[in-house]
Formats: sequence, C-alpha cells, structure tokens
Amino acid sequence: MLTTMSMKNAYLLSVLDDLKAKSAHEPEFLQAVEEVLESLEPVVEADPRYEQQNVIGRMVEPERIVMFRVPWVDDSGKVQVNRGYRVQFNSAIGPYKGGLRFHPTVNLSVVKFLGFEQIFKNSLTTLPMGGGKGGSDFDPKGKSDAEVMRFCQSFMTELQRHIGPDTDVPAGDIGVGAREIGFLFGQYKKIRDEFTGVLTGKGLSYGGSLARTEATGFGLCYFADAQLRDNGQSFQGKKVVISGSGNVAIYANQKCTQLGGKVIAMSDSNGYIVDENGINYKVIQEIKEVNRARIKTYLDYVPSAKYVEGCSGIWTVPCDIAMPCATQNEIGETAADTLIANGCIGVFEGANMPSTPGAIAAYQAAGILFAPAKASNAGGVATSGLEMSQNSERLSWTFEEVDAKLKGIMEGIYAACAAAAEQYGMKGNIQAGANIAGFLKVADAMLWQGI
Ligand code: NDP
Repeated sequence: MLTTMSMKNAYLLSVLDDLKAKSAHEPEFLQAVEEVLESLEPVVEADPRYEQQNVIGRMVEPERIVMFRVPWVDDSGKVQVNRGYRVQFNSAIGPYKGGLRFHPTVNLSVVKFLGFEQIFKNSLTTLPMGGGKGGSDFDPKGKSDAEVMRFCQSFMTELQRHIGPDTDVPAGDIGVGAREIGFLFGQYKKIRDEFTGVLTGKGLSYGGSLARTEATGFGLCYFADAQLRDNGQSFQGKKVVISGSGNVAIYANQKCTQLGGKVIAMSDSNGYIVDENGINYKVIQEIKEVNRARIKTYLDYVPSAKYVEGCSGIWTVPCDIAMPCATQNEIGETAADTLIANGCIGVFEGANMPSTPGAIAAYQAAGILFAPAKASNAGGVATSGLEMSQNSERLSWTFEEVDAKLKGIMEGIYAACAAAAEQYGMKGNIQAGANIAGFLKVADAMLWQGI
C-alpha cells in the first residue's frame, strides 16, 4: 500500500496524483517514484524553477518505451513467444544506460521502476550516463545453452534498432550474465557489422573490463564500509546475512569476508542455507556459476550447514548486518522488525528496491543504518561506465586500476549522499541524500537543455 502522508508540497502531490491515475496498474513504478519524490520536497521548495519548468513531471515520464515480440524455437521444435522491453527513461546527462533482466516476473511496471531508479543511480556515479532498463519475461533457468542463444538472438534482432554505443548501452541484471551478454553481443555485431561497446559486462576476450563481474558486490561493501566507519563501526567480527546467490551476492560475500565480516546465510528463490562457520564464496560460485545448480547443494560441500525451504525466512537468521541482494520488496515490515529485534545494526541494499516502504520506515524508527540501493549498488553501473571508457580508448586497465577507481567512486557517492542530506537538514539520512544528490545533476542538465 502506498503512503503519501509525509508529503505536503502541492506541486509534487499533483505530479504523483496524475501519475497514479495514469499508471494505476504499475505498483512497483509508483513505489519507486513516491520514494524519490518524498525526499525532493525541500529541494523543490528551495528552487522554484523545478516547478516552473515542470522538471519532476517530465522526469517521471520515460522519453521512450519499446515493447516487442520475441519469438524463438525451443529444443523440441516448438515456437515460443516472450515479450521484450526497453525503457529509455532519461538521457539528460548521457546515453541511456541500464541492465536487461530476464525473469518471469518482468513486466512494464518492473522495467519502469528499474529505469527510474537508474536515472539517479547513474547520476550519483558522476559518470556521463542517462537512465534506462530493459528485459523480458523469458526464464533462462532450466533452458539449454542453445535455447538461451536462440532467445538472445531473437531479442537482439529487434533491440539492435534502438541501441548503440552513443545512444543506449544495456548490461546484465537478474538472469543476464556473461553467457547471455555474449550471445546478445554476437547478434548485434552480426546485424550491424560493428564492433563497438554497445553492451557492458562483456567477456574479457572481446572488450569486457576486469572487475566488472565483482563490481556491484564489491562496490556495495565499499559503500557499507564507508557508512559503517562514519558511524564508528566496521565489518570486523560482524555476522552478515546476504540474500540471493547470484552475481551481486557472491561478490558481496567475497568482499565483506575480506573486510572482516562473516557471511552466515545466503539464499536462492527456493530456500536458504545457514553456516555459522562462514560461507566460502568460492563454493557458491561453483554451485551457481559453474553448475547452475540450487543452493541446497551447498550441503554436499558442507554437511554441517542447515538448509531451509522457502527464501523469505532468511531474515529471521540473527545477524549484525543484512545485505538484501536478490530482488525487489524482499524485506517487508515484519522482516525488518525481526532483523531489528535480533540486533541488526544496518541494512545495506545490493538488490534494487529490496525494502518495502514499511521496512524503510521501521529502519528509520529504530535508528539503524540504511544504505539505499540507488547509491549502494551503483558500483556495477559505475564499472560499466569504466568499461565504456576503456572501449572508447581501445585500452584495458588492470584489475587493480579498475578496483581502485570503483572504491574511490563508492566512497565519493557515500560522501555526496551524506553531504546532500546534511545540506537539506536531514543529517544521516542517506536515503534522502541519495535521491537529492542524484536528482540535482539531472535536473540541472534538463533546465539547461530546455523543454
Ligand atoms: P542474478 O540473476 O545473478 O541472481 C539473482 C539472485 O536472486 C539469485 O540467487 C536468484 O535466485 C535470486 N532471486 C531472483 N529473483 C528472485 C525472487 N523473485 N525471489 C527470490 N529470489 C530471487 O542477479 P544479480 O545478482 O545480477 O541481481 C540481483 C539484484 O541486484 C537485482 O535486484 C538486480 O537488479 C540488482 N543489481 C544487479 C547489478 C549487477 O551488476 N548484476 C547492478 C545493480 C543492481 P534463483 O536463482 O533461484 O532465481
């Protein structure tokens, strides 16, 4: 259920009411917009140009949406049809940039919420990237490599008309990893006869960047570390629960273990594992990246661990630090209350919008640390931006160079969010700071560029 109780600004309320009337069937998108607009109240009140030029009304409307049919043939010879999407949300500060998600739950509302969040996230990285997102309701799970290839080829046959290295540069997201990016890139090259940096997350042999695979998880931990240190804390000796076991979760585990934390629980959509001795990320890497198996098979490696069917119970595992790295709305108010009652000192978001508005209200009421996804998971897209730079230069940087830049960017994002929050009278509210700092650059560019 959406709430507007704290928002009083008439202009923002009218934009939101108008959007609710037009997009009533897009709950995730409305949730993401409302969360941002609430934080922008002091900004809009301080500068009348945002209302005069209707900057917010323009910002909540995507510049362009492409929806398309994706027909493909499965291994039994049957013709399957999925739906493809690309939402090109905002190009004020650079070419559209944002991942592709392949998951059965993908619909227009999900792609619009992700695209909207991406505008602010990309702005926070300080790199010149606009916001976009795309995907399909195709489920790569259980499909053969040949089926995934045929699907990706069909998807790109249409998408290639709408993207390009200076127009729109997609990347991976849920269900889109190195295998899918490879097939998508191969098809783009075949049709367009161009070898360009049109996608990021590419393999190292054809233009990918070192450390891109690790970037979102590592970046999340660099951000969390900066926030913890700013509050007199650290990862040292902390018990950490990470939901998910995909790209973000695996490398969040690696980095927070390096920083002194102990990851005691991880999950997939079927269930979760608990290992009080600490989960070695290399085991999860083998289960997920090599075997494409279920997390339950962790028990074959560590028989003393526990497996629980159903993924939502993971937040009942007592921990000091929670890192939701699976999907949207995975922590509701009840789960947030449980985390807090069990002594959790901070929630650092790796997934996009994993906390419901009720959960965020609970963190705020309890005064625990909260890192909002659009800031704390920006390391992936930031490193995609670095991949684009390397592609333009026709150069490859070392792992250490990219990792050092990533760390600097994440610490810079934390500092920018903290400073914006303080400037607008909300010291310590990193959620509001992220929305404000991300907004200001895009809004300024929109004002300069006219209607
Ligand atoms: P992956 O596909 O690599 O992994 C996703 C993980 O989350 C899997 O363990 C999956 O389990 C689980 N999961 C997915 N959907 C659900 C669901 N509906 N319920 C429960 N579990 C689910 O994706 P990523 O790690 O790349 O992405 C995870 C999150 O991080 C997403 O919110 C994404 O938008 C965000 N993100 C990713 C970035 C990146 O660079 N990859 C960058 C910024 C944000 P199962 O295998 O069983 O489906």
